[in-house]
Amino acid sequence: MLRVAVVGSGPSGCYTTQSLVQLDPEVRVDVLDRLPCPYGLVRYGVAPDHEKIKSLQNNLRAALEHERVRFLGGVRIGPGGVGVARLRELYHAVVYCVGAATDRRLGIPGEDLPGSWSATQFVSWYSAHPDAVDAGFLRDARSAVVIGVGNVAVDVTRMLARGLAELTPTDMPQAALNTLADSRVTEIHMVGRRGPSQARFTTKELRELGTLPETDVVVDPAELALDPGYTDPSALPAQQRRNVEVLRGWAGTPPRGAPRRIHLRFFLRPAELLAEQGHVGAARFERTAPDGHGGVTGTGRHEVIEGQLVLRSVGYRGVSLEGLPFDPVTGTVPNRSGRVLREGVVIPGEYVAGWIKRGPTGVIGTNRPCAKETATALLEDAPVLALRAVRDDPLPALRAAGIDPVEWEGWQAIERAEAELGASLGRGVVKLPDWQSLLKAAAAKAR
Ligand code: NAP
Repeated sequence: MLRVAVVGSGPSGCYTTQSLVQLDPEVRVDVLDRLPCPYGLVRYGVAPDHEKIKSLQNNLRAALEHERVRFLGGVRIGPGGVGVARLRELYHAVVYCVGAATDRRLGIPGEDLPGSWSATQFVSWYSAHPDAVDAGFLRDARSAVVIGVGNVAVDVTRMLARGLAELTPTDMPQAALNTLADSRVTEIHMVGRRGPSQARFTTKELRELGTLPETDVVVDPAELALDPGYTDPSALPAQQRRNVEVLRGWAGTPPRGAPRRIHLRFFLRPAELLAEQGHVGAARFERTAPDGHGGVTGTGRHEVIEGQLVLRSVGYRGVSLEGLPFDPVTGTVPNRSGRVLREGVVIPGEYVAGWIKRGPTGVIGTNRPCAKETATALLEDAPVLALRAVRDDPLPALRAAGIDPVEWEGWQAIERAEAELGASLGRGVVKLPDWQSLLKAAAAKAR
């Protein structure tokens, strides 16, 4: 009987676990997570107003509640926790499903000015990630600039435009809700360096911007017309064609005079963030032009867009884990069908799935076939893996190393505490936003 550790309880970790227990009637899986809460980016990345996507937690829950699966939260893998080599000793196989934990950088002057944040920092704050800080994101902000035109950019743009009535039913922490509801941001500029037919957002997410109360979506037809695919989008792939059609619709509709405006901008490459009294006050962009091959070239002309809040939403990036190989160019762990490669050679026993395997692309469902491929590879290696004897139960060894995992009952106690907090505020479930309250709630599991 194989004992497998899956590191990370986000979608790729849960789908890997699900595949393993479905494909092998005996395997036992421990799902380890650095946080006391499961579900990774479904809990801490999916926007709070996307109830339907968030309800995917119920599918992921089934994997973690399987009788041969154990959730062990609050277990850090790497320096300061359980080392990669030690984990390998404790289990027949380890699957790393650790995602892409940091952000890409823009590499422009002013990027680190106060008031300029990565979209991830902003998302983590309103999603109650326990490592997030309340950086006073909206303090004195009237205009916000969101750099990038992917789905994360659409998420943060939408959250900046939401009001009290729409935020209250979410599980957003109360402090973030109050701040967003009191926001004085009226102009939100979402800016892409290439054209509308190359934007990365999906049409459903784009369309939703047009449904926001008290918000106009403003698109300049002259800017869209720079895109060769704009006049006749029929030759574009389906998603790009639909995106262009939605944008054309907005470009042809005069604003209704709503109190808030989302400006969708294209062909503007970030050049510099400009300071005003030590704080970001604007972003300077270079106007670009299509190069005929899907890319753009600079034109030497510049435009400055006012923004006391700048959110850089230019994609995630994988982080290396001490003891595991890492390709700094792609930000992934080198692998073949999920088997980790050390200097180009497969060493059975170490696997990857999800964004750390293939890079930060795709929607949640993309992780399902990716995880299945990895689980299949692992189980093909089972005859070799099973030759090595491991402990019956690695938990006592983890405890002996000073690690006291939050088990499933602890997580359920956190869920109860979040329901109670919400009830006390006259809301539904409200997330606990800090380590102390999460660990305190988990410790109350005996009730
Ligand atoms: P993304 O889809 O890769 O989009 C990144 C954006 O940043 C692109 O517009 C890209 O432009 C731009 N960019 C990159 N480097 C830049 C630079 N130096 N200067 C200016 N712009 C730059 O990344 P994401 O939005 O973080 O999303 C990550 C993944 O999560 C995606 O697969 C996304 O679909 C998924 N997601 C899905 C949902 C949902 O389904 N509701 C929600 C959130 C996230 P170029 O194209 O020109 O490089």
